[in-house]
Amino acid sequence: MQIVSVLIPLGLPGPYDYAVPPDMDVGLGDFVRVPLGPRRVNGVVWQAPRALGKDDLEPKKIKSIVERLDVPALSEQLRQFVDWVAAYVMSPPGSVLRQVMRVPTAFEPAKPLLAYRLDPSTPEARPEKMTAARTRVFAALAMLPQGMGLTGPDLAREANVSSSVIKGLLAGGFLQTYPLPGHKAFAAPEPDHVQRDFSGDQKTVTQALSAAVAERDFTTHLLDGVTGSGKTEVYFEAIAQALRENRQALILLPEISLTTQFLERFEARFGCAPALWHSGLGPTERRRTWREIAEGRVQVLVGARSALFLPWQDLGVIIVDEEHDGGFKQEDGVIYNARDMAVVRARLASCPVILSSATPSLESYVNGREGRYEIHKLAARHGGAAMPKIQLVDMRASPPPRGAWMVPEMVASVGAALARGEQALLFLNRRGYAPLTLCRGCGHRYACPDCDSWMVEHRFRKQLQCHHCGHLEPVPELCAQCHEPDKLAACGPGVERITEEIIGHFPDARTVILSSDMTGGTQALRETIQQVARGEADIIVGTQIVAKGHHFPKLSFVGVVDADLGLGNGDLRAAERTYQLLSQVAGRSGRSAEAEGFAMLQTHMPEHPVLQALAAGDRDGFFTREVLAREIAGMPPYGRLAALIISATDPNEALAFVRELAQKMPAHGDIRVLGPAPAPIARIRNRYRFRFLLKGPKNAPMQAYIGQWLAPLKTRGSVRLSVDIDPYSFL
Ligand code: ADP
Ligand code: ZN
Repeated sequence: MQIVSVLIPLGLPGPYDYAVPPDMDVGLGDFVRVPLGPRRVNGVVWQAPRALGKDDLEPKKIKSIVERLDVPALSEQLRQFVDWVAAYVMSPPGSVLRQVMRVPTAFEPAKPLLAYRLDPSTPEARPEKMTAARTRVFAALAMLPQGMGLTGPDLAREANVSSSVIKGLLAGGFLQTYPLPGHKAFAAPEPDHVQRDFSGDQKTVTQALSAAVAERDFTTHLLDGVTGSGKTEVYFEAIAQALRENRQALILLPEISLTTQFLERFEARFGCAPALWHSGLGPTERRRTWREIAEGRVQVLVGARSALFLPWQDLGVIIVDEEHDGGFKQEDGVIYNARDMAVVRARLASCPVILSSATPSLESYVNGREGRYEIHKLAARHGGAAMPKIQLVDMRASPPPRGAWMVPEMVASVGAALARGEQALLFLNRRGYAPLTLCRGCGHRYACPDCDSWMVEHRFRKQLQCHHCGHLEPVPELCAQCHEPDKLAACGPGVERITEEIIGHFPDARTVILSSDMTGGTQALRETIQQVARGEADIIVGTQIVAKGHHFPKLSFVGVVDADLGLGNGDLRAAERTYQLLSQVAGRSGRSAEAEGFAMLQTHMPEHPVLQALAAGDRDGFFTREVLAREIAGMPPYGRLAALIISATDPNEALAFVRELAQKMPAHGDIRVLGPAPAPIARIRNRYRFRFLLKGPKNAPMQAYIGQWLAPLKTRGSVRLSVDIDPYSFL
């Protein structure tokens, strides 16, 4: 009897053995359907078939593979990647495989796509009972050419009806279905669709990156260029080279769903749109993309971090744009950093990886400085645009007027930009109207019932919301504690409050908010970004969303309402992150040569090194000092960190487990364990949370140590334990 080990995309300890039916031909990497308890699940053949040995289970206890699925086998490269990531982040390999197999329909035979249309022989027939919804369905279909129809979801959207309305009309014989032809293939981007003229530096970098792609070897590149220096145009040339090599290209972007502008630029350069991969994709599009990639028919894809786990056939280059962005760290389930895993993926694929940023992460900066990454610099903005001037405003010396959040100088600068016909951006990295609501009568503060956090007022939606669990309440009229009316006060500003203030100054200007929770969702946000890019807004008030790569040619003034916001929490990367965020935000201004850029930062600590460096435009000076401080403290990238996070709905259960962990902690000469301590947010979603922080030198065997520590322990009851290697969040 032949048996194989099959890895199942679930958090099981390892692959399970199954018998291969005599008439079935299975090999390494094949997708198969196997029984698991009462269920049948899809998995991947993880080890080559072998004869049943004497150490194996008895033959009658081994279940058989049900079927081999008609999907191209998972490459050795991707299997190695799954195993590598699993070992590194200390997740079961099956949980990592789940990242690959997230698209269940990809493993089923393609269903013909059905569309609904009017019966061509009786297009005028209508049911006796015509409801408003039914009328809308007929109206939507009547707009189409004779004989044409729409898929169920499209028709439901067009007519704004539920699928039951459509099903009812189908059952009544007023509609008919017909199969649509199969999906179109993805268009092939043309490497030489247009020819750009590159400046001196751009040319040098373009040539170096293209040469690296042509080498077909693993190399790591840090594309370090100021905002607006043409990094995107330059790495497009590396993609063009991958296309000429007949290999594929993957671009990872942190805010993929907002990237209309990026897609337009891609299309201008390559003549067609790239394939996309992000959470907003519908199931049909997901299946199509997954399958086309597995079959090697997608040339370029722009995706979120999970695109690393797509079944690529022959990757020629991976680009991580805005590589410093914290959004590349996945914080739940399999906790991994897509920027770091992109480097691993490129190594396995034998292709270069390009990390691009105007403000690289300190990790990448040090890797570059120490020669592990090749650095490519673009020091000047394209087309002669100057870097924005940055001015600090000392809020201690000149506070804003009572009840206001912006100093008169800032308001005046907004006015000046408007008078010149340019745009102004006000930045505050805080959603909503106010971060805290309190009662002036009794002092009651509105807190989330399930988290240790305050409820944030969203005045435009008339709700209080917890930003940790999403809990919502209507904005109350009476105080919940003393029941007095008109005593509730909003404390502190959020973007909505800043919007209110600036509209008070410039009631006739076109003011828009860019924040992730505005009504209308991603679609509306994308449209607003395009409006701003086209110059159809005058004042933009935004959260960190505005910092991400947008090109707003008419934007000349950036006002940062609270530059100190990120510096307050003493986390390892507070200074680095604040520098990155604020220089990215300031870098939105003056990107075209017509409008000179200027940024004003309101601060209570103008002497802080981060703010001083920003004002002086001295990034490398700041990085040098920060690197030295990390080196002295033995912090990343000079040391390694890992965290254990323990949580439970019952605080006693959590505590008991934490004590047991503390008792069983193995001794290790190099690794220090800090904690246990209650997490800074000690309760989220009604789970009580504790943390251990592990610190060791760069070569410390962190995973082995944690493995040894956790091996004898088992979580009980509601206790959950997660391991975070290279943590970014310390909450
Ligand atoms: P970055 O990614 O470094 O912020 P971009 O690639 O967005 O910079 O470039 C900024 C602007 O300059 C964009 O509008 C881009 O199209 C334009 N640009 C940069 N380099 C060139 C070039 N060589 N030829 C034409 N346009 C360029
Ligand atoms: Zn909450």
